[in-house]
Amino acid sequence: MSDTATGFDIREVFDLSGQTAVVTGGNQGIGRALCFALGQAGATVVIAARNAERNASVVAELEAAGHVARAITLDVTDYQSWQDGIAAIDAPIDILVNNAGICYHEPALDVAPARFADVMDLNVTGLWYGCQQVGAQMIDRGKGSIVNVGSMSGMIVNRPQMQPAYNASKAAVHHLTRSLAAEWAPYGVRVNAIAPGYVRTEMSPIDRPEFKRYWLDDAPMQRAAEPAELGPAVVYLSSRASGFVTGEVLTLDGGYTLF
Ligand code: NDP
Repeated sequence: MSDTATGFDIREVFDLSGQTAVVTGGNQGIGRALCFALGQAGATVVIAARNAERNASVVAELEAAGHVARAITLDVTDYQSWQDGIAAIDAPIDILVNNAGICYHEPALDVAPARFADVMDLNVTGLWYGCQQVGAQMIDRGKGSIVNVGSMSGMIVNRPQMQPAYNASKAAVHHLTRSLAAEWAPYGVRVNAIAPGYVRTEMSPIDRPEFKRYWLDDAPMQRAAEPAELGPAVVYLSSRASGFVTGEVLTLDGGYTLF
């Protein structure tokens, strides 16, 4: 019920019932946690990643938890794969979470051309394909929300590990987010990003002793995030609760970038 003072019900504006949300890389780590959050908010969740077996296993977990979920096998770096994937979904996409990403720890002079290209292909070009193809559909419908997964690495230089390609790719994600947000706002399509700090996943081995001093001890909260802690922010950016928010890069880093 809406409140006469505000004109809305605070629980309703976060509700994603009846909406379809596609999460790239939704079969593990942060993406998996975001699927659960979006499912809990009522969305039908579509996992889009390459490993069909892992996709199916997370779909089964989501269904066991009472959520509506399915998966498409999709390589985000392949333009045709996006076209086929979107056709297979065969329903309007209300929410796109571009989460798939990769990071190599390598000092600049050791980065082989193919490794630099790998990072850019997945983190930037693949994300761009998704924004462009799903964005076209959203523009036609006059509504939609895209949430890109950037990183605090798009703002700071991590240490002790060097990862120049990754850092550049995430800065690109943030500015692509702002560029599309400005261009598509008149069409009712919002584009935002989250910029997480260290999160306990396969990509970030936070328990390794060589990283503890820089990744954890140096952080204001002296800990990394668990993947589930990112979910509510993505539900917020996906939902009507953030209806006047676009082009935002929301930092979720426990204060890491403050120092
Ligand atoms: P993981 O390595 O745990 O998971 C990566 C996911 O991406 C997998 O589901 C993988 O599935 C998918 N993926 C990889 N390549 C492709 C592809 N070509 N097409 C489709 N899907 C692909 O990563 P995290 O969960 O740690 O990271 C998720 C996102 O969060 C990334 O963008 C990362 O940069 C960002 N991030 C992570 C942080 C962290 O500390 N962990 C911090 C800040 C940002 P499959 O192999 O089946 O395709």
